[in-house]
Amino acid sequence: MASWIDTSPLDRRRIAESWLRKISSALEEKRYAAAAAMFHPDGYWRDLLTFEWLFKVLHGPGEVEAWLRKAFDAKPAGNFRLEFDPTVGAIGEHPETLEFFFRFDTAIASGRGYARLVPDPHSPATAKAYTFLTAMQELKAFPERRGKNRPHDDLHVTSTQTENWLDRRRAARQFKGKDPDVVVIGGGQAGLMMAARLGQLGVDTLVIEKTEHIGDVWRNRYHSLQLHNEICMNHFAYLPFPDTWPVFIPKDKLADWLAFYAEAMELNVWTKTTFRGGEYSGSDRCWTVRLRTSEGTVRTMRPRHIVLAAGVSGLPNIPHIDGANEFGGPILHSSSPTDGLDVKGKSVLVVGAGTSAHDLAQNLHVRGANVTMLQRSSITVVSLYPSSVRPYELYRQNDGVRPIDDTDLIAASVPYPLFARLQRPVSHQMMEDDKELLDGLRKVGFLLDNGEDDTGYFLKLLRYQAGYYLNIGASDLIVAGKIKLKSGVDIKRLAAGKVVFSDESAMDADIVILATGYKPLQEAVRSMLGDAVADRVGPIWGIGQDGELNNMYGQTAQPGFYVTGGGLPGARAYSRYTALLIKADLEGLRPHRDPSLQTANGSVERREPEYVQL
Ligand SMILES: Cc1cc2nc3c(=O)[nH]c(=O)nc-3n(C[C@H](O)[C@H](O)[C@H](O)COP(=O)(O)OP(=O)(O)OC[C@H]3O[C@@H](n4cnc5c(N)ncnc54)[C@H](O)[C@@H]3O)c2cc1C
Repeated sequence: MASWIDTSPLDRRRIAESWLRKISSALEEKRYAAAAAMFHPDGYWRDLLTFEWLFKVLHGPGEVEAWLRKAFDAKPAGNFRLEFDPTVGAIGEHPETLEFFFRFDTAIASGRGYARLVPDPHSPATAKAYTFLTAMQELKAFPERRGKNRPHDDLHVTSTQTENWLDRRRAARQFKGKDPDVVVIGGGQAGLMMAARLGQLGVDTLVIEKTEHIGDVWRNRYHSLQLHNEICMNHFAYLPFPDTWPVFIPKDKLADWLAFYAEAMELNVWTKTTFRGGEYSGSDRCWTVRLRTSEGTVRTMRPRHIVLAAGVSGLPNIPHIDGANEFGGPILHSSSPTDGLDVKGKSVLVVGAGTSAHDLAQNLHVRGANVTMLQRSSITVVSLYPSSVRPYELYRQNDGVRPIDDTDLIAASVPYPLFARLQRPVSHQMMEDDKELLDGLRKVGFLLDNGEDDTGYFLKLLRYQAGYYLNIGASDLIVAGKIKLKSGVDIKRLAAGKVVFSDESAMDADIVILATGYKPLQEAVRSMLGDAVADRVGPIWGIGQDGELNNMYGQTAQPGFYVTGGGLPGARAYSRYTALLIKADLEGLRPHRDPSLQTANGSVERREPEYVQL
């Protein structure tokens, strides 16, 4: 095959169109072996909801064919058509890929996809799919109310009505005498974007938020915090940040944006409202939930669906430490505000070595504290530049070039197992680029790793949302000895003004800050909805054996229950699919409990957090 770089745009179009035509007709005629043979032996098909209301990864023609016989037969798709001119790219060991967006239809939905073709290793004149994404985008009967389909009042009618837009907004927010279809627990970025997606589909949604003001979750974080990744990947659904905004968004600016977003997207948010428990009734397919409102009363509601968007800040992980009562000084978890603490000249022990531990240690050092970091186990450290940005280079390159929804589709077209493989060499490059920093850290005894399967920090984010630090200065302070380090030990006990470590060494301390992370999200489910629901749902987050995030964004084994969250890009991109699942359920377009979640004996299958073996 001639190089695609040297091929004219017209010829690239012809290759892409011919490939799409071929797979379209193979699928239409149920020639599944022929369709599967259009995949590279190492190729991936990822489907987001289109065929089974699931997120699904298939690897290699064998898996593709078996799945087509089961899923496609039941729910066919057709009319695969090219969307824009193809481009030439590269991925992993493939120096040239022909890449293109396409559209397609099923009986009830319209979809978009993204394909990467590479030459067939056995017959280079033939193009095979290396990655192929099919993603449901819209339910045909319920298009989003945007663009040409935006709300369009008849002014002759509205001018005769006594209520105006503001009156209707106030009434909608109150839920007087009626219940929402969906209650979203948590009004951080993930909860708000979820509500915005649902709102666009006409789903009546209430967001409850326990703090006083929308955005407080960011406002209450430590003083110096700015987002650690660039703005290009952090835009909100429907409403990208102005292009005048800085690359790294300060936390209070983001907090204000959350409040603005809630107003702009006409979201119904009750602040100072907490979730006090709920039960699901399978017979009427409805939750009964209890909410403590800002007035101090308990309101009972009957939504059909609950989306948990309570973030990582749900339940702090606070270890038991012997002698804590004798210590005498403050012992705080990193989630508590520390800005008001008088730390100047004080000896502070920061327990932990993740992002919060580093940021807090640096912040306390700047405020004049004498800081020691206690590192119990190894982590991955990368420089902010050039290393931390490498995994999201796609977003940087497409910033201002493509709509963020298109970039999200390209990103989704690389399934997590492939992404992990691709990150291994990338992380090696990072280690090489950061050699001086890492050597310096090793020299002072800092414990480093590159992830359990040598795939670097971004996979740690996807697996644990922890275990790494993007160096914005704390590592340099550790190397220079300005933040002291105690590594490879744990706290044995506290005594008056003293910390004794497991190696029997000790230090004087005035304050202990526990940057010890958060309990698994499943525990937040347990505390809110009880053991039965938490056990049915299973572990949340981490890459499962099926190559998808465990119980995130999709239908969990608990009917009417979903979890959203993660970083801004995940919350933005995948809230679309959660909203489609909920809308389809409310409109009776999908089976109430997906049969694919049922095991042979009829019990409900749940995903265990087994990590992808590469
Ligand atoms: C220091 C730091 C820096 C970060 N930097 C980045 C970054 O650069 N880019 C990025 O993408 N991500 C970043 N993250 C990670 C992630 O984006 C944030 O943790 C983010 O806040 C997660 O959003 P969320 O909406 O899922 O949860 P949260 O922001 O934690 O929001 C959850 C909301 O739910 C509310 N809530 C909780 N329980 C209840 C309840 N029972 N009832 C009612 N309300 C409840 C909380 O008050 C909160 O407002 C960072 C995180 C931290 C801590």
